[in-house]
Amino acid sequence: MGDNHIAIPALLKIGPGALGELGTYLKDLRLEKVVILFGNGLIEMFGMDVMKSLAEMGIDVLEYQELDTVRLEDLTSLAFSMPAKTQAVIGIGGGKVIDAAKYCGFLRNLAFISIPTSASSDGFSSASASLLVEGRRKSVPARLAYGIVVDTQIIKSAPKKFIYSGIGDMVSKITALYDWKFEEEHGYGKVNDFATMIAKKAVNSFVRTPFESIEEDLFIKELLDSLAMSGIANEIAGSSAPTSGSEHLISHALDKMLEQPQLHGIQVGIATYLMSVVQDHRYKRVNTIFTQTGFWDFVKTLGMRHVDFEQAIDLAPSIKPFRHTYLHEQEYRDRAKEVLATDEKLKEILV
Ligand SMILES: [Zn+2]
Repeated sequence: MGDNHIAIPALLKIGPGALGELGTYLKDLRLEKVVILFGNGLIEMFGMDVMKSLAEMGIDVLEYQELDTVRLEDLTSLAFSMPAKTQAVIGIGGGKVIDAAKYCGFLRNLAFISIPTSASSDGFSSASASLLVEGRRKSVPARLAYGIVVDTQIIKSAPKKFIYSGIGDMVSKITALYDWKFEEEHGYGKVNDFATMIAKKAVNSFVRTPFESIEEDLFIKELLDSLAMSGIANEIAGSSAPTSGSEHLISHALDKMLEQPQLHGIQVGIATYLMSVVQDHRYKRVNTIFTQTGFWDFVKTLGMRHVDFEQAIDLAPSIKPFRHTYLHEQEYRDRAKEVLATDEKLKEILV
């Protein structure tokens, strides 16, 4: 039995203008000496607002810099060069700098404040970090954020592809949860009912939100809330199983194979549709949300190749040999390739 101590974020603010309130939020938590890591080019975009908000509340910024690395060695030396009096590490930006700050916080046992500027995945609320270890992408254990601050105005102003990526990553909980159940039914591992409930509620609430445009406040808020809940589901489960199944294995395989992979949630989203057909589970719902949001129309412009997905299906089980998703069985790998070759939607979006 693992221990059941769960660290829920002490701070969760998702809404328009949240970044401008950062100083107040940190003051409330008595985090008054901080280090800030910004994504590439983001000091120019958000630096002034952040510094002003912190200065107004008397928060000391001990160090700040832009960071464009997730190499384990770089982050280790960065973490241990942070001043001894540092109380919190703040990461502001896309997936990379969020993972970097998350890992630095973990190494130094400091509060990590997660401030994503795009909605591209659930990484901002997950406990693990995707780092480069000896030249290869690896998901390493870290810790859930102590605080999550999402300014939905900033998310909205980011390129639309990031919203599509977030949609793909969110919808993937449908197939991931089904894989987890499959795994348990076949005698591998144990489903955690509470984690399942949280992840299921998160995705269902999202796919049932009525909207006219994906740039509506309610839609963006719902997407970010649901992505944040997914991270908590992982924390409860003590693994990424509730939010990452066979569809994620296909995406990880594409990351390995391709010189220029697409955004995480784009690859994951396509693989989610494919696997939902294989699982014969809620594929109509997946297709509907991808059609209504414009996800499919966007994907069609990317020229992604059928043959790459075929290879990725074969590679998928070796990505996580200790799991037992649908793709860990030959029968379902064959079925996946058959669906890939015959499904009208997949034929339409892949070349
Ligand atoms: Zn994901």
